[in-house]
Order: sequence, then structure tokens, then C-alpha cells
Amino acid sequence: MIELKNLSARYGRVGVLRGVDLRVEPGEVVALLGANGAGKTTLLHSISGVHRAVTGSVTFDGDDVTGLTAAERTRLGTSLVPAGRQVFADLSVEQNLQVGLHGTRLAADERDERFEQVFGMFPILRDFASRPAGLLSGGQQQMLAIARALVRRPAYLLLDEPSLGLAPQIVEQILGVLATLTDSGVGVLLAEQNAGAALGVSQRGVIMENGVVVRSDTSPALLNDPEVSNHYLGVEQEAVEVADRAVLPRSIFEPID
Ligand code: ATP
Repeated sequence: MIELKNLSARYGRVGVLRGVDLRVEPGEVVALLGANGAGKTTLLHSISGVHRAVTGSVTFDGDDVTGLTAAERTRLGTSLVPAGRQVFADLSVEQNLQVGLHGTRLAADERDERFEQVFGMFPILRDFASRPAGLLSGGQQQMLAIARALVRRPAYLLLDEPSLGLAPQIVEQILGVLATLTDSGVGVLLAEQNAGAALGVSQRGVIMENGVVVRSDTSPALLNDPEVSNHYLGVEQEAVEVADRAVLPRSIFEPID
């Protein structure tokens, strides 16, 4: 189990997370929800060790890892898939997967078996195995970023906004893979602004506001709560409406010649 106790984090003197308690059990998906700037990325980075200006504690299966580096935490079985995919554009799909195995010293047949396993989850990656990752679509790059984390066979996977900018069918396909992971005991913490999609694939959800956990419940309970749907499930629609409105004054005040 990943467990956070009274975790606070800061950038310089500015406190960003305050007193967060959270746990992720093996074999469950926990959705981490909240608006822009709520602190979701900082929380994932504090768990993975990318961000270390923290107080409180982070434990993996009972071992305190708060003092460990990101590389040490990765070796202990927790992999982060960062926001914005961050694949190596000039490397092929297969080379990106090899980067994921950095430091593991696997025999060739074990490596091939792991590649086959992730190709089974995302078959398009097998078709494009020798293609530079920069030529893949956004959805395919997201699949590659997840596959690159999975070849290490992590016990816990931390996903930062995997749905960002992707079409609904692609989101469904990518998040659908999470269910197969939890069947094999992987614990997943899924940070998402797409609350509907995240609650649809998770067992529990945690809502953050301004660096504090304001609500924690089962996903069905959160999905059925009118206050949650008003605040978080309407976000996408609201964004579309704001974008539409933003176009109007522009066309009025800046007429096309
Ligand atoms: P988003 O969905 O926009 O990424 P988030 O919920 O992931 O939001 P964070 O990125 O963790 O939120 O940001 C939480 C707060 O910390 C915000 O107020 C943000 O401006 C601030 N912050 C994030 N990164 C830094 C940084 N490197 N230096 C200073 N402040 C930062």
C-alpha cells in the first residue's frame, strides 16, 4: 500500500499541499480529482520523489521512503507517467520502451516478454515499434508513456492527466487498460480533471482544493453526489462555453478586413 500521512509540500516558501492523508491499496484505482492548481501534480511528484520539499511521510508497503530519491522509489516499484506524455520523440517506440527498463539488466527473452505484454495492451505500439515516437498521435504517445512505465512491472502506477487533449474513445481505451492492471494487483493513482472518466474506472476518489483533501469516498458515491457533479463533472462543458464566448468579442472588436 502507498500511504501518505500529514503530507505537506512547498515550492520555496510557498506551501502547496497541506496535511494530505491518502492511501492506495494494491489492485485498486484511486481517482485524484481537482481543478487546475489544486495540487494533483505536486502530490504525484511528492509520492514519486520528483518533488522532495515535503514534510509528513510517504510509505510504500510500510517502508518510509520520504528520504529516498525518485530513482530509488522507482526501483522499489512505483512508476510515474508524467503529464504531457514526455516520450523521446527521436527514439523509436521500442527504444522508448528500452529506456523504461533502464537499470534493470534483464535477459533478452525476459525483455521481449515484457514488450509483448505491453504490445498486447496497446497493439498499435507493436505495429509502430520501429517508428520515431514523435510521429505518433497524441493518444499513441500516451499509450507509449504508460507502456514505458509498465515494462518495469511496477507495483504502483501514478498517472498524471492521461486524458488531456485526447478524444473520448481514446480515453476510454487507455483508461480501460487500467482495469486489466488492477486484476494483476497493481495499485493506480489517477490524477484527472476529467472527473467523469476517472470515477468511471476507479473504486475510490479523492477531491483536492487548494492543496487540501476536501472529500474522499467511493467512486459510485461521488458520481451520484449532485454537489460533486455540479462542481467537477460539468467542467468540460463549462470550458467549451467559455471558449465559445471568448471568440465572440474578438470577432466584434477585431473585424476581419
Ligand atoms: P494542473 O491540473 O493545472 O496541473 P494541479 O492540480 O496538478 O493543476 P499543481 O500543478 O500541483 O496543481 O500546482 C499546485 C500549485 O502549485 C499551483 O498554485 C501552482 O501554481 C503551484 N506550482 C506548481 N509548480 C510550481 C513550481 N515549480 N514552482 C512554484 N509553484 C508551483
